[in-house]
Amino acid sequence: MVKMIKCKNCGKVYPINLSNCPECFAKNKQLSINVVVGIFLAIFVFVFIMVMVNITFNNNPNEYIKDTPADIISSEGSISLQEFYKIEIGMTYEEVCNIVGGEGTLNTSVDLEMGDEYKTEMYSWTGDGTIGANASITFQGGKVISKAQFGLK
Ligand SMILES: [Zn+2]
Repeated sequence: MVKMIKCKNCGKVYPINLSNCPECFAKNKQLSINVVVGIFLAIFVFVFIMVMVNITFNNNPNEYIKDTPADIISSEGSISLQEFYKIEIGMTYEEVCNIVGGEGTLNTSVDLEMGDEYKTEMYSWTGDGTIGANASITFQGGKVISKAQFGLK
């Protein structure tokens, strides 16, 4: 059912979707208003969609990682490449902790029950740089015997 309106000029009742009165040809002002409202509504919907698309884009996890400065990932007790280079074979765990600025995480401990000098321990430190960057230092008898790093900066 098409909504009917009354012409303000001659009083004839006619469907609202006509742009002019069929009797006196006076302009249907309500239709003009509807068209203007329709255009505004279309612009609003368009802007709304653009905003939603923009929000979705900004929530892309890859974008987020790319925009995160490396120094936010890095913190106290994490190892930098420069610190890694300072670690030398024969250093004690305490010396390594002093260089890095924090305690490591004990990953592996092999105790052969043959005395402390044969005890092997592998510690890791999270690193500065890319996500997942780390350094692994292996100690035997409390001294560094090998070191490895991944992705340090
Ligand atoms: Zn009319």
